[in-house]
Amino acid sequence: MGNWRQIQLQNFTNWEKLLQFLEFSDHSFILKNPKFPLNLPFRLASKIEKNNINDPILKQFLPSLLELEEKKGFTLDPVQDGVFRKENKLLHKYEGRALLVCTSACAMHCRYCFRKNFDYDTKEKSFEKELELIRADTSLAEIILSGGDPLSLSNERLEALLKELSSIAHIKKIRFHSRFPIGIPERIDEELLHILEKMRPQIVFIIHTNHPKELDADIFTALKKLQKLGILLLNQSVLLKDVNNNVATLKELSEKLTDQGILPYYLHQLDKVAGSSHFEVDPDQGAILIKKLMAILPGYAVPKYVQEMPGEAHKTPLF
Ligand code: SF4
Repeated sequence: MGNWRQIQLQNFTNWEKLLQFLEFSDHSFILKNPKFPLNLPFRLASKIEKNNINDPILKQFLPSLLELEEKKGFTLDPVQDGVFRKENKLLHKYEGRALLVCTSACAMHCRYCFRKNFDYDTKEKSFEKELELIRADTSLAEIILSGGDPLSLSNERLEALLKELSSIAHIKKIRFHSRFPIGIPERIDEELLHILEKMRPQIVFIIHTNHPKELDADIFTALKKLQKLGILLLNQSVLLKDVNNNVATLKELSEKLTDQGILPYYLHQLDKVAGSSHFEVDPDQGAILIKKLMAILPGYAVPKYVQEMPGEAHKTPLF
């Protein structure tokens, strides 16, 4: 495995190069200058079927003219992050947990992302003010590192942040929300493992994958290294039209994950972010899918089907 920064430089950020790589001659479906730009790791791009506009990986990452469609109820801030901001980079929505927006950078840009309209990057790069709030609030037992993707931070910055969090006695768990290993598993490098190994709080990783085609042996080898440190590994997915809204795909995804000791945690109903209505699946169809999964998979392999409703004390179960 090579250096993850160098590998990241191979990401496709130019749609012409991507479509050439994928052997498309028709470009009529492309949104050419989206505010949220194309960003797709080479590993994922190489899994896309050539010249197939319906490929489930391509659909998640290719800026499409469908993003221009306006639909009632789809807004810039569907989960109202703005309301729950306690500090620039600290969100406190749920009892006992707070979320630290570590960076706005991601290893990839998912077209349905509910944070795609936010720029959390500020001139202030330190987390001092956020750490001060966390230190003062003894009700907080868990800090969620999110973003963007927390693994976009350098090992040096991550280590400094994790050390600060570990020094706060009431913090018992540190959770990473990361899609990085799915695109660039090389990010789980020896230095990172060494840093994680030393931390006092329990580390939890929630990875994000939506389709079994995204997964491969290198990804599982990297994730296994985390598991060997006693890190709890879970997955969250988003239910996406024409990507994973069928029983066979969701079953295969759950089986591939559980075969590696990774539990399917959440299947999210799409957050209604402007420009993503073409991904929406009717919640009634989602409930039918979950019911069918329950009939063919062990209970631990069936994710909780949930929706984030702003102002609620927890995510709302849809089944
Ligand atoms: S990796 Fe996560 S935060 Fe980044 S664009 Fe995708 S869904 Fe959004």
